[in-house]
Amino acid sequence: MSNQSLPPGALEALKRPSNVGDRSTIRKLSDFNEGILAVVTSRNIDLGELTHKFDLLCPRNGCGSVILKAGVGRWVEHDGVELDNEKGPLHPDLPALPTTPGTAQWWLVSPNMMEFENIGFTRPVQQDAAAKKLKFLICAECDLGPLGWCEEGGSEFWLACSRVGYR
Ligand SMILES: [Zn+2]
Repeated sequence: MSNQSLPPGALEALKRPSNVGDRSTIRKLSDFNEGILAVVTSRNIDLGELTHKFDLLCPRNGCGSVILKAGVGRWVEHDGVELDNEKGPLHPDLPALPTTPGTAQWWLVSPNMMEFENIGFTRPVQQDAAAKKLKFLICAECDLGPLGWCEEGGSEFWLACSRVGYR
């Protein structure tokens, strides 16, 4: 018996840490081969609607604060909203969203913020003179964001599907 009987690369493969089945890892939408199809399931209260079968988390590794319990948000493709300034996202865990005008994929949460486990908000910002003021959604623990948006005083809260973690 000697190591020379092992096929090339086998020892390295055994030593390599495997993330398969590691529930402590925060997965992003981009980590799923099937994308959004891998994370949706029918909603209990309306089987024609889709929800997320995972808890939604802050995407920052080392944080992972639970934002929304599985089954709460409703999947919608809806007009995109500029969450970032012209310099783009400020953090590597926040992928750029599709450019506006155009649609993006959102988890819609309503009717109020009590649906969330943990969520933080920015101060209201005026996108342009005609529009209502928006607040951006951020992680309540580490302030990472924007993860989504809502209108000031509104009853709908929009989380970007690509900007939350899944577990
Ligand atoms: Zn966080």
